[in-house]
Amino acid sequence: MKTDDKKNINWPENGQPNWKKIIVESHLPETLEPLRELSKNLWWVWNSRAIELFKYVEPKLWEEFDNNPVLLLEEVSYKRFQELNNDQHFMTEMHQVYDQFKNYMDERKNLGSPQVAYFSMEYGLHDSLKIYSGGLGMLAGDYLKEASDMKVNLTAVGLLYRYGYFKQVLNLHGEQMANYEFQDFSKIPVQPALDENGEWIKVQVDLPGRKLTACVWQVNVGSVKLYLLDADNPANQEQDRSVTHHLYGGDNENRLKQEILLGIGGIRALNKLGYNSEIFHCNEGHAAFIGLERLSNYMEKYQLNFFEAKEVVRASTVFTTHTPVPAGHDSFHENMFKYYMDPVPKRLGLSWEDFVRLGKANVHEDHFNMSYLASNLSQGINGVSKLHGDVSKTVLKSLYEGYLEEELEIGYVTNGVHYSTWTAKEWKAIHNEYFGEEFPRNQLDFDVWSRIYKAPEEQIWNLRNTLRKKLINYIKARFSDNWVKRNENPKLITEVIGKLNPNALTIGFARRFATYKRGYLLFRNLERLSKIVNNPERPVQFIFAGKAHPADKAGQDLIKYIVDISKRPEFRGKILFIQNYDINLAKMLLQGVDVWLNTPTRPLEASGTSGMKGVMNGTLHFSVLDGWWVEGYRKDSGWALPAERTYEVQDFQDELDAETIYNILEEEIIHTFYDRNKEGVSVEWVDTIKNTIAQVAPHFTTGRMMQDYHTRYYLPQLERTNNIKNENFKWAKELAAWKQKVSSVWNEIEVLNINVAEGVNNMMTVGREYPINVEVNLKGLSGNDIGLELIVVENGVEEKPQIVERLDFNVKSCENSICQYILNYSPVHPGSFNYGLRLYPKNEGLPHRQDFKYVKWL
Ligand SMILES: *Cc1c(COP(=O)(O)O)cnc(C)c1O
Repeated sequence: MKTDDKKNINWPENGQPNWKKIIVESHLPETLEPLRELSKNLWWVWNSRAIELFKYVEPKLWEEFDNNPVLLLEEVSYKRFQELNNDQHFMTEMHQVYDQFKNYMDERKNLGSPQVAYFSMEYGLHDSLKIYSGGLGMLAGDYLKEASDMKVNLTAVGLLYRYGYFKQVLNLHGEQMANYEFQDFSKIPVQPALDENGEWIKVQVDLPGRKLTACVWQVNVGSVKLYLLDADNPANQEQDRSVTHHLYGGDNENRLKQEILLGIGGIRALNKLGYNSEIFHCNEGHAAFIGLERLSNYMEKYQLNFFEAKEVVRASTVFTTHTPVPAGHDSFHENMFKYYMDPVPKRLGLSWEDFVRLGKANVHEDHFNMSYLASNLSQGINGVSKLHGDVSKTVLKSLYEGYLEEELEIGYVTNGVHYSTWTAKEWKAIHNEYFGEEFPRNQLDFDVWSRIYKAPEEQIWNLRNTLRKKLINYIKARFSDNWVKRNENPKLITEVIGKLNPNALTIGFARRFATYKRGYLLFRNLERLSKIVNNPERPVQFIFAGKAHPADKAGQDLIKYIVDISKRPEFRGKILFIQNYDINLAKMLLQGVDVWLNTPTRPLEASGTSGMKGVMNGTLHFSVLDGWWVEGYRKDSGWALPAERTYEVQDFQDELDAETIYNILEEEIIHTFYDRNKEGVSVEWVDTIKNTIAQVAPHFTTGRMMQDYHTRYYLPQLERTNNIKNENFKWAKELAAWKQKVSSVWNEIEVLNINVAEGVNNMMTVGREYPINVEVNLKGLSGNDIGLELIVVENGVEEKPQIVERLDFNVKSCENSICQYILNYSPVHPGSFNYGLRLYPKNEGLPHRQDFKYVKWL
């Protein structure tokens, strides 16, 4: 053998594995295919019969897989499928449920107007889809279900997170462990969104020096499609794959990348999917970049300039703000922001300075604020309860300098909850018995709900007992399971489980453990609390649940504190903390407890929705008069802590509120619950439940909420948008040109003379006339362009002056831009007031003053 031969062995050149994705479905007998179709649409989540159907397939696996039918169908044995196939009862039920589903979907084939695109960072639809963390997401999820039920032409966009939000596990010491579980997307109710050639739709957004590619997934929520963008794919650099790993995880820079993907990528996804949305709804400021992408689309496609495009984008966008404190709004330091957004202003034909002003209230700010951007690019802005609408005016008022808070066009749509999702099937049966088979389709007819007064007391009382027992059994199972896993002392477990009482007055408190929610309030006076829960004739038990954000040390300490207390001898089985508050636990709690307690610091609870889920189930609400409860509370339909703040110092206020809570508990709630008639029924309690269902519940459904969004925002904005777009954007161009004309000379407008009748500055008499003459040089504008008004406010309230009168001047004459304005002021109220004069741009085409927020006080 020649040894100088270069090569005598063929060394393999194997390379690395080159994985391509395949998705393989389990083998279902053909006759059971309807099950598969049902599993791929979340419609089953709010239809009790469909839930029961899946449960029947294999009850143990159903529990084990946390009610995930996709996983269930994958794991059920072929033998079991064959059994089902031969189970006449099952097959009949399956076909009936399937027909119901088919009819539901058929009825939704031709949808009306407007076509709404809805954007949210999170959606709470089902526990198997871990793309929610709390109230914001739950609300968005409920809204999609309602859109489907009400045949609203709505399409939603969000992000698909590889690890979602964390699962809460408490260790032996009550410390919260945040567990992030890897999501296998083939085992949850999502599917690749395909184009007409069967290709998986992908979108790209620009990051510095590279592209970020996202796959688009589809979730079927009844007839509503939810599209989720997922960056965890091999087209991206390793570090970019993690952009969508966690909901509200990572640093602020990652949040910016997520929001670029959600907003800009979200619009691109809708375009690729062929949607022609008319109204764009931004649920919280996270998705505000949708406006930027839409602006540049209009500019490119229709050769509009930035200002013309802005007319269209503003007219067609609704921004819902959920945060009552300025610090709660997402914002990014300008340096980092510039690193990512540098190319954007060029596309919009703007300088960097003009561009960043879209996210600033004044030029000196060094952060770009997403809520400011959303406000600047939306005609409609709303808070999520009446009170929160007003609070939002305070939060956003710096954007509208020169206008008084009460004048701001920031409205509200109070949140609601999806009736069919949250109402126990036992209650649904009672509702159908008294409200008719048509219910809940006619839920917007509020009078229907009053028929609950016809239900006999025992029927309702027994139902409440049944639901409480169900809850206690559920808790026993979930609780002992968790406690065994964490190696809790078996004696303690037995003691706690043994003390849980299915007949005791049960009070629930579950929500995010953020400081303002004051989960600690109940524990201000432990001695008194102990007396309350340990009263042998009238026992009370409290059930707590909720997560604290992983970065919120105070929230975690509070959880630990409650867990510690729950282990003290006097509180065992009386105070319970159940770990991992999720949708299923929320349902069980809200249906099973007698009273739902909420103790936020007013006015920091923007709306709150869990209490609404309770009232659908006759769970009585006991809360601070904050958020939705300000509107919901009626005498004899629950309990309220007074609205007015007594103390500036929070600790004193807490002390007072805690005392009030104990008093109301002892003197009213416990007393009423245990005050029984001969049949063992508390008539007064049942009456309160009936009042709650008749008078409170109907106003807090997503049905009512959907209707409000249509009448207050979607429909008026649709009409205006269409007008603005007509005839090749004629009106958009005119308005934009007019605004530019006004703004170009605004700062030069000169007031030449103000002549006030004698008396105005001294003493006036009601009914007498006092002429005011003002001469202004409008610098090329006309008296039709610029209005002058007199504002009279109450004297003395410096911070939030209340307007008493607002009167427009008439233009007497105009010559060479010099205009004479006159008003014969005739005061109508006696008293002491302040007055001011101000100029403002005047045009009937503006939807409201803040649409063009110039104002000049003289
Ligand atoms: C309803 C709900 C929330 C929001 O409750 P709030 O009352 O708004 O705090 C949070 N988490 C889950 C699981 C819910 O069901």
